Order: sequence, then C-alpha cells, then structure tokens
Amino acid sequence: MSWDFETDPEFQEELNWVDNFVREEIEPLEYVIENPSDLKNETRNTLIKPLQAQVQERKLWACHLGANLGGPGYGQVKLALMNEILGRSGSAPIVFGCQAPDSGNGEIIAHYGTDEQKERYLKPLLANEIVSCFSMTEPQGGSDPKVFTTSAELVGDEWVINGEKWFSSNAKYADFLVVMAVSEPDATPYQRMSMFIVPADTPGVNIIRNVSMHEGREGTHAYIRYEDVRIPKDHILGGRGQAFEVAQTRLGGGRIHHAMRTMAQVKMAFDMMCERVLSRETQGERLADKQMVQEKIADSWIEMEQFRLLLLRTAWLIDKHNDYMKVRKDIAAIKIVMPTVLHNVAGRALLLHGALGISTEMPFARQVIDSYFLAMGDGPTEVHKITLAKQILRGYEGTDDLFPTRHRLKNREKALKKFGSLIAPTDDDI
Ligand SMILES: Cc1cc2nc3c(=O)[nH]c(=O)nc-3n(C[C@H](O)[C@H](O)[C@H](O)COP(=O)(O)OP(=O)(O)OC[C@H]3O[C@@H](n4cnc5c(N)ncnc54)[C@H](O)[C@@H]3O)c2cc1C
Repeated sequence: MSWDFETDPEFQEELNWVDNFVREEIEPLEYVIENPSDLKNETRNTLIKPLQAQVQERKLWACHLGANLGGPGYGQVKLALMNEILGRSGSAPIVFGCQAPDSGNGEIIAHYGTDEQKERYLKPLLANEIVSCFSMTEPQGGSDPKVFTTSAELVGDEWVINGEKWFSSNAKYADFLVVMAVSEPDATPYQRMSMFIVPADTPGVNIIRNVSMHEGREGTHAYIRYEDVRIPKDHILGGRGQAFEVAQTRLGGGRIHHAMRTMAQVKMAFDMMCERVLSRETQGERLADKQMVQEKIADSWIEMEQFRLLLLRTAWLIDKHNDYMKVRKDIAAIKIVMPTVLHNVAGRALLLHGALGISTEMPFARQVIDSYFLAMGDGPTEVHKITLAKQILRGYEGTDDLFPTRHRLKNREKALKKFGSLIAPTDDDI
C-alpha cells in the first residue's frame, strides 16, 4: 500500500533550499529586471547567471529533463513540488533552466531532432545561451490548427515559408522559432502541416508588433509576418506532415507544467488574502471575524487543496505510465480546473484588499487576467472539456434496456430472485 501524502525527508531538504533561494535571491529580481528572457540585457545577465551557476552546482538545473539530456530526471511529482515554488516568480524558471517555451521546444527537438539540430539548437538552448519561440497560432484562429494557412513550399534545397503568426511569445528575444506550416496542402487535415526550425535572423521574419497583456508593460507576444523566409531543407523538425504529433508531444508536458506554476500563484494569492483579513478592521472587528469573509477563506482553501491533489495525482500518473497519451484525461482535467481556481482565489484576494487590491500596486488584477490566458492557451477550456468527457465515456457502456441498470424496481426483482427463499414476503410482493 502506498497512499502517501508526504515528501521524502531528503527531497524536502532540497525543497526547503529552493524555497529559501527563490524568496531571498530570485523574487527581488522581479522589481529590477523587465524580462528574464532578454539575454541581451546586461543587468539581467549580471544578476541571473551567478544564480543559474548555484542551481547547477546544487544539481537542480533543468529538472524537467531526463539524465540523457542533462537533467536529474526527477519525474513529474518532484517537478510539481519544485514548480509550485518556482511559479511564485517570473524569473525562477529561467534560473532553474525549466522555462516555457524553451522547455517544450527543447523536448520536441530532443525527441524529433536530427543530430545536427540537437548540436546547433538544443545544446545552447538547454544551457540558456539562447532562447526560443513557438510560433503556431495564426491571427484567424488558434483553437483549431486546421484553419492555419502559413505555407512551407520546398523549392530546390530550401523551404520557403509565407504567412502570419500571432502571439508568438518571446519572438523578439529568440534565436530560433519553431514554426508550424502547411507543407502538404492535399493531405488529410491532420497530415497537412510540418514543423520547422527557423533561425530568427533569417531575412523575411518580420515582427509587425509585440502585443502586451498588461497595460504599461512591454509587449512580448509577437505578431509576425513570414515573407519568403528561406531555410535549408534539413530544418524540418520531424517528418513531413507530422506537425500535429510533434505539437502534442510538446503540449502534454507544457499543460501540466503551467498548472504546477499556477499552483504557486494560487498559494501566493491565498497567503496574501489571509494576511490581509487578519490585519484590516472594519466596523469594530477584523475582516477575519466576519462570516462572509470566513466563507471566502474556506472556499479558497478547499479549491486550492483540491487543485493541488489533482495536480499531484496527475503528475504521479505521468511518472507511472511515462506516456502523456495514457494520461490525456487527467491532463485535460487539470488544464480545465487551473484557470478557475486562480481566477476565484485571486479574485477574492483582490476584493478583500479593496481599492489597493485592484490597483497595479498588488498582483491580483494581473493574476485574474492571467487566469484567462490559462483558459485559452494550449487549447481552450471548452475543447479540453470535450476531450475529458469523451475519455471518461470510453469507460462506460449504455444499456439496451428501457430502464437504467440501477432502477430500483428492476433490482428489487433481481434481489428477490436471489434471496427469495430466505426472506419473508412484504405487502408489496403479495
Ligand atoms: C499569454 C499568451 C501567450 C501565448 N503564447 C503563444 C505562443 O507562444 N505561441 C503560439 O503559437 N500561441 C500562443 N498563444 C496563443 C494561444 O495558443 C491562443 O490564444 C489559443 O490557442 C486560442 O486561440 P485564439 O486566441 O485564436 O482564440 P479562438 O480560437 O478564436 O477562440 C476564442 C474562444 O472561443 C472559444 N472556443 C474555441 N474553440 C471552441 C470550441 N471547440 N467549443 C467551444 N468554444 C470554443 C473559447 O472560449 C476560446 O477562448 C498565446 C496566448 C496567450 C494569451
């Protein structure tokens, strides 16, 4: 039997170190570094590189990767326990070498890349000597990749890419972009596209503008026009028409890693809410003493704990099966619940902080907006609900009978047949 809700003392020591390191060394970076992915920013490099060296020395670098790729191969449960700390700070994942979108891009190059691609792109990516971008969504639609029109045509020894991509995060910092494009226009819908590695300095990679989600903050989500972008033939990633499969490999891990980091944001909002209600008085008593405030604390705690348990169980299932497809249902469920929990807990924390809570001086408004990103990025909640329901229903069968299997009268009849000789008849049976 192993239903255990405790962390090994040995790994707990590592987590304690991570917790302290993030609080003391990384969280303060938030206030002085605009974007930790901006490798050209000297202040960023001066502050972040020594921290990365400490993490490497501690052997906690790139914990999402197996030993064959230079990580410790901890698996998803340990990664979840780490990420629920790292997610407190926008800079922590990069200090620990597990930041999106590089982690997902690294995973697909490791899985589908040629030896040259691994040498040229994966190696420096894993060392955070370069950063990357995943360029898939198009302005006319993101939830349904079947509507993408960006094309890749093989002309001689080069692929020529034309089209527009939308919300390509970190493109302006990236050394290369992973681009999904239609290379087989006559194939069936799921075989029409291939994945390509496009060096960011290739002529024709034109950023139209960088879109922002938060007023007053620098935009990092690029609207890109690919205009006659020529890349060598060997820059296809995976086989022709294999882009859907490549994308799924990337998204399975990506979704749960977002959930792990979201757990950190939920806990932060919850902690701030508790501190505030114990500190603030109105009408002669603390906010904490009012029953409707207590309800908000209780509801938030329950939602947070339910989310965490589902998250850890899903991580455990991934480790057990070592195959994202076998855990599709559970990943869909955690993807669905994550935005709601962040939205609810951050929203209540915002409310209980009053005007201060809604201001840019506190993080709650940003967290609430982020909850909407979590509901649409990597596939919208609606689509994941469809997946979840379909997967669940695979474990059930309908009945041809007019009445359901658990219909009371039917079952009483069966029970009477089974025990008839042993029980006295009731008035109903006479
Ligand atoms: C912060 C952020 C970062 C991002 N980073 C990247 C990135 O790096 N690379 C990249 O390629 N993309 C990125 N995206 C884009 C993201 O993947 C898309 O926003 C997402 O796929 C949804 O596509 P869309 O915005 O075109 O919305 P649409 O496809 O237009 O959908 C709009 C809404 O319609 C509803 N909907 C959609 N489909 C269904 C359905 N089947 N049934 C019922 N309702 C439905 C949902 O509510 C959905 O939110 C990012 C987005 C955000 C917000």
